[in-house]
Amino acid sequence: MPIQKSEAIVLRRQDLRETSLILTFYTKDFGKIKGILRGVRGARGVCGGGSLEIFAHDEIVFYDRKKSDIFTTSQCDLIEFFNPIRRSLEKLAYAAYMAELLDSVTALGDKNERVFDLLLNSLKLLSGEASSRRAARIFEIKLLSLLGIMPTLESCANCGGKVDASAKFSVLQGGLICKNCFKSDENAHTIMQGTVKFIEHIRALPFEKVARIKVASAVGKELESALRKFLDYHIERRLKTLEFLREIEKV
Ligand SMILES: [Zn+2]
Repeated sequence: MPIQKSEAIVLRRQDLRETSLILTFYTKDFGKIKGILRGVRGARGVCGGGSLEIFAHDEIVFYDRKKSDIFTTSQCDLIEFFNPIRRSLEKLAYAAYMAELLDSVTALGDKNERVFDLLLNSLKLLSGEASSRRAARIFEIKLLSLLGIMPTLESCANCGGKVDASAKFSVLQGGLICKNCFKSDENAHTIMQGTVKFIEHIRALPFEKVARIKVASAVGKELESALRKFLDYHIERRLKTLEFLREIEKV
C-alpha cells in the first residue's frame, strides 16, 4: 500500500516501549486500522496537540509495514479535540465507552464510512447539550443497525409470526418473540411498546433528527437495560469503560 491519508478517530491507545505508541483508529476511508507511532512520547514528537488522545478526530498519514497488519503512522494532525467532553467526567466516560464498543464489534480493515460518520456525529452530540445517556442509546441503536445485528422487532424472531403488545424481548432469539414462542427463551422479558417504537424511530430517522427526540424516563431505563443485555450477548469481552460508567452513575 502506498502512502495513505484519511480522517480518523482514535479508539484506543497502547504504549509501546519507551517512546512509541500503537493507536487503534477508526478511519473514514479504510475502516479500523492499527498504527504505530515512533518517538512520540517524550520531548520530541511528530504528532502534537492532543491528536494521540482517545476519541480525538484527526487527519492521519500512514503506510504499509512489510509482514504486519500494523501501519506506520507518519503524521497525525488534530481536527477536533472535543473539549466539552474532556471537561466532564460523565461525558468522558460515555465517549470512552462509544470508542471501546466500536472497537469491540468491528474487525480490522472493515470499511464503513457510515460507521465513521456515526461515531463522529455521536461525539459532536455528546459535546453539546444532549444528555449523555441519550447520545449513547442513539449510538448503540444506529451502530447495531449499520452492522446488521439489530434485534428483530417487526415479527417474531423465532417463528416469523406476528407480534403484538404481549411480545417479549429475547436476547437469545435476537428480538421480539410471540406468545407461542415464549418457551423458546425462559429469560425473555416484557418490553413496553413505547420502547420498541423508540428503537424503530431511531433506526429509521436520519441522525440530525434523532438527536431531538424526547424520551420518557421509563422508556429510557428499559431501553438501556434491553440494549445492554443484547450487546453483552454479542460482545465476547467485557468492556472496561462500562464498569467505569456504572461507578460514575452511582455518584
Ligand atoms: Zn413466534
